[in-house]
Amino acid sequence: MYGIIDKLYKTNNATEEELLFVLNNIDDDSKKYLIEKSNEIRLRVYGKKVYLRGLIEFTNYCVRNCMYCGIRAKNAKADRYRLTKEDILECADIGDRLGYKTYVLQGGEDPYFTDEVMIDIIKSIKAKYPNNAITLSLGERSYESYEKMFKAGADRYLLRHETASKELYENLHPGASFENRRKCLSDLKKIGYQIGAGFMVGLPNQTNEDLVKDLLYIKELDPEMCGIGPFIPQKDTPLGKEEGGTLEATTTLLGIIRLLLPNVLLPATTALGSVHPLGREQGLKAGGNVVMPNLSPTRVRDKYALYDGKICTGDEAAECRNCIEGRINRSGFEVEVTRGDNIKWQRREM
Ligand code: SAM
Repeated sequence: MYGIIDKLYKTNNATEEELLFVLNNIDDDSKKYLIEKSNEIRLRVYGKKVYLRGLIEFTNYCVRNCMYCGIRAKNAKADRYRLTKEDILECADIGDRLGYKTYVLQGGEDPYFTDEVMIDIIKSIKAKYPNNAITLSLGERSYESYEKMFKAGADRYLLRHETASKELYENLHPGASFENRRKCLSDLKKIGYQIGAGFMVGLPNQTNEDLVKDLLYIKELDPEMCGIGPFIPQKDTPLGKEEGGTLEATTTLLGIIRLLLPNVLLPATTALGSVHPLGREQGLKAGGNVVMPNLSPTRVRDKYALYDGKICTGDEAAECRNCIEGRINRSGFEVEVTRGDNIKWQRREM
């Protein structure tokens, strides 16, 4: 075990068998060692900096039927909303004042937001805040659509691959294509976006072998960001009565990812904070260096109900900002008020 962790630390690589051995056999002492090593790498690459992204959940309409997701099309109980361009710009104003120099525009796959509508939103934000970054997270679209939004000013795109196991993927995403999800990620990369992939931990029927596939896929894809979080059941979905993923399993995977990809931007996700009161703090200590506080208007927050027990649905943006800074500081890290690009891109700009 310790030999494999040392190898990961020194070479940022491990074989399929070695990764499986770690996931199958990690215990309290070896976990402590893994976290120590991943924290060392994170401090070497990013120092104590934690980047903030203002998350704007701008629509919960979705044409997809992902089995785990509370905003799936077939969930008749979801209370649907769309933010207007003016709403989104207001969020951008508040975010800029709070020091969020990246906006993440996330939503279900909502046909209302055509390329034309998105281009108008992107250009309007960039006209006002040319130095702030825009991350899109709108799901699967065509190459042409991604390219048009990139040319309009979008900088990054977050599209979790969800799981690198084809069978599991197909069971969880009726009517969707495993291959197309991956094609989207390679299209986004080709176009020039900083990309974010990622996966859920603790999905029903997910094995450690499946998680090793996720780790190997991430290593090969080499994305600028990797968003991972525990699966959490949502009561009005087909998986509503299943068990969710754990803080322990997720922080182990965060630690391994930091060792595999030293430069990666790694969020301590809201889902991690939702399974444990100190989940995000533990995520930062395991190698995380990004937090995405919610910037959506409070009147819609609880409607973006991907899973049950989601935190931060009642707080005003300014309260979230203070709360998050306190949590970051108490974990031994510091808020960094910049766009927070991947270190490779920061070096490219110098
Ligand atoms: N529609 C876009 C897409 O497909 O990438 C972005 C929105 S989607 C709701 C954002 C992410 O939420 C997904 O990538 C998924 O990993 C996560 N998610 C959805 N339901 C979840 C659940 N029950 N537990 C944990 N994460 C969930």
